[in-house]
Amino acid sequence: MVRVRFAPAPTGALHIGGARTALFNWLYAKHFGGKFILRIEDTDIVRSTNKWVKTILEELKWLGLDWDEGPYFQSDRLDIYKRYAERLVKEGKAYYCYCSREDLEKHRRKMQRLKRRSVYSGTCRELTPSQRKHYESQGRKPTVRFKIQHPGTTVVSDLIRGTSSFDNSILGDFIIIKSTGTPTYNFAVVVDDYEMGITHVIRGEDHISNTPRQILIYKALSVDPPKFAHLPLILGQDRTPLSKRHGEISITHYIENGYLPEALVNYLSLLGWGLTSSPQILSREELIKDFTLERVSKASAVFDIEKLLWINSEYIKRMDISRMTDICITYLKKVGLVEFNVKNSWFKEVIKLYKDRLKTISQIAEFASFFFEKEVNYSKEAINILNKEGTSQVLKKVKERFVEQEDFDVFSVEKTVRSLALELGIKAAKIIHPLRAALTGRTISPGIFDVVSLLGKERVINRIERALNLLKG
Ligand code: GLU
Repeated sequence: MVRVRFAPAPTGALHIGGARTALFNWLYAKHFGGKFILRIEDTDIVRSTNKWVKTILEELKWLGLDWDEGPYFQSDRLDIYKRYAERLVKEGKAYYCYCSREDLEKHRRKMQRLKRRSVYSGTCRELTPSQRKHYESQGRKPTVRFKIQHPGTTVVSDLIRGTSSFDNSILGDFIIIKSTGTPTYNFAVVVDDYEMGITHVIRGEDHISNTPRQILIYKALSVDPPKFAHLPLILGQDRTPLSKRHGEISITHYIENGYLPEALVNYLSLLGWGLTSSPQILSREELIKDFTLERVSKASAVFDIEKLLWINSEYIKRMDISRMTDICITYLKKVGLVEFNVKNSWFKEVIKLYKDRLKTISQIAEFASFFFEKEVNYSKEAINILNKEGTSQVLKKVKERFVEQEDFDVFSVEKTVRSLALELGIKAAKIIHPLRAALTGRTISPGIFDVVSLLGKERVINRIERALNLLKG
């Protein structure tokens, strides 16, 4: 059975790259009816915090990437790593190293001067029991180093990148347990992936250089390594690895700024994966059905916010209006435009006007504010329209008609405006533009007849009067 895992370090927020890794693992598990395991790699006690653990879990849930097992915490498993390390020492595949930081640094600098690769010199490789005793009596706390067998090469087979070989001599005897007793990443990951029965390790390409070391540890433990699949890098528009310099990369940002989880999942799935004649909008079910590692590309993916916005807008268009209203309310509340859950039919009608207009749900607060504000804020462009010659005549006339009018449904409003235009011998646009400016304070809004009808007679008349006063002044 397929068993995959997502193994974030809780030293920061979940970001685009991490979320993509989580998603690909999740899709792979779902596609094969396997298990998706969550493991928190928190052995860096200084930088790992509960706050980040909480954020990561919440955001995975928000994305709908539910896990079947875990979260396991590496910090709860220190004894396990120690046990494995001791076994390797006993079998002569690892050894205690008492070199001090200063000794190691000296060696590193010497190698640098000689322009040689700086790998561990092997000082402690063959210590006698009495040498060890001597160091112990000095109170030195040893690290445990993995013994690399020389000469030799390590072959890495990757489901996405094919096969590559690494010369073992460039690896050097590396540390598997630090002097503090905590394991290094490479060691903990192997012990855990083995103990947790992981069949496929799917992770970012930035980890490829760790893989030979991990394979050597599997060999030393006499167990078969899992299959590896390294996902292509995600780059920014300037083709350098995606980072904060390129803008917002934390999932928190996308949650807070009106992106829908299904849109983000859809977009993330396209970062390095896709169908050949691919439709870009793919439901979660379609993704699960079609996701395979063979379709993951070797080439780097480029993060494109415009594409993400487009996908998000497509999901907004297809969204159930009741859910859209709920989410819109949270954004309108945030900026103080509404105070309570006004989920009546009027409110829904307002939200409906924006279904095809929003790229992010949070834009509702900006685009629809005039429906909720007491006083209209006029933009410069709107004032320019109001100041055009003849505008006040037109506005006065249309106000008179609205005062007389009883039905304020969209159809009646449109009829009034169009027949007034006919009477005055002008184009309807000559009424619509100033009317929009007067009622919304802007030059762009949803259809004006909808706006008039939804604002209602009283507000429409008040706003026209206020605009007329403004013109006088
Ligand atoms: N903790 C590692 C990371 O966050 C996991 C790498 C792996 O999947 O092996 O990058």
